[in-house]
Amino acid sequence: MDLFQYKNAVLHCEDVSIESLAEKGIPTPFYLYSLNTLKTHYKKVYNAFGALQPVICFSVKSCNNVHLLNELAALGSGMDIVSGGELFMVKSSNTDLSKVVFAGVGKSEEEITDAINSGVGYINIESVQELQRVQFIAGNLKRETNVLIRILPDILDEKTNEKTRTGYKGAKFGIDYAEVKLLIRDNHDHPYVNIRGLHCHIGSPISSYTFYEECINKMVQLVEELKAENIFLKVLNIGGGFPANYTDNDNFSWESFAGPINRLLEPYVKNEGFKIILEPGRSISANTGILVTKVLYIKKSGDKNIVIVDAGMTNLIRPAMYGAFHYIWPVHPDVAHVLAKRNYPVEQEGLVKYDVVGPICESSDYLAKDRELPPLQQGDYVAIFTTGAYGMVMASNYNLQVKPAELMVDGDKVYSIRERETQDDLIRKMVKSEL
Ligand SMILES: *Cc1c(COP(=O)(O)O)cnc(C)c1O
Repeated sequence: MDLFQYKNAVLHCEDVSIESLAEKGIPTPFYLYSLNTLKTHYKKVYNAFGALQPVICFSVKSCNNVHLLNELAALGSGMDIVSGGELFMVKSSNTDLSKVVFAGVGKSEEEITDAINSGVGYINIESVQELQRVQFIAGNLKRETNVLIRILPDILDEKTNEKTRTGYKGAKFGIDYAEVKLLIRDNHDHPYVNIRGLHCHIGSPISSYTFYEECINKMVQLVEELKAENIFLKVLNIGGGFPANYTDNDNFSWESFAGPINRLLEPYVKNEGFKIILEPGRSISANTGILVTKVLYIKKSGDKNIVIVDAGMTNLIRPAMYGAFHYIWPVHPDVAHVLAKRNYPVEQEGLVKYDVVGPICESSDYLAKDRELPPLQQGDYVAIFTTGAYGMVMASNYNLQVKPAELMVDGDKVYSIRERETQDDLIRKMVKSEL
């Protein structure tokens, strides 16, 4: 659930009418975030795993606006980063850097140096050579640094999109489970690089808690085997990948999802002082945002109704890239088509089947295919829901489209939190100079 609801037949974000925003002359498309949805979802995730007193490291790659990061940091959130750029963003925010975890298979020497100098909480190690490089750099800097070993657990949730699976054998992420024990045994007493524990992220979104159970069991087995050799790990980072509500008809319950995970990990927290880290992204940010777009043209193509809107794959690439489903509905439907719940399929009379497409010259530029919607007209504003995660962060300038603005609502107040790009921005860096 989120705070995007129809009031008097008009879609509101918290107490703000989205129609009034569009009519104020804010150019479409734009992203709009609900601050109180962000906060509620952070608390939902924290409370679900509250028995573990976890450190929540929000996945910055899912949604990276510094103002939203500051709001999460104020609630106590740490950050999960995957690049030097994200490290820079997090350093520009109010985040406590000791609550930052740094993952990614291809960290450069500069990124590792920056992470160590910045005092990030943990670097997640994804290969043997990376560990060696971190040891070398930390040794040169004479700075202690804490790391977690990211295991590749050989776990596959077949329901996860092929393009967002990370934990199967042969994936590029982490270190083969079978190699990890020896690696830790050989490296646990390095003078500058402390191996504090294990990390795992099995993909997203993960459809059932059972995959986390499977993964945690593998992590715990390693912990126990190493303990028998007097090597004591104290941190388990179980990653992210918790689901978001892309429709209202999933009966997801945080209680039944997190309960079994808590029961597995609680003894380690209560009896052995383990620190548990979670890296939720979409479960916090996805429902926080919508993309508002306008109908430019409607036409027929064969027997298809094509509705062309001013947002495309350069604003939201998930449908084109993953075949992802995003709920779409007009901002101000006629009374017969006001939506109480975002269930799909929609049980209403008088809907029309549309392909919703963007302006990009690329045949994959679809936002939805064969989607039943209320009859649309040129100029209608349309909301694309659950786009707070992997929306704006994946926006591009393809076709020389400018990146859209980001707005944030808090109650009845609206803030601009990122200006729309200008066409000058598109050529600003094209400076010719002889080298
Ligand atoms: C992407 C990512 C996450 C977040 O995934 P969500 O599905 O958004 O929760 C967490 N950890 C790592 C290492 C990631 O790459």
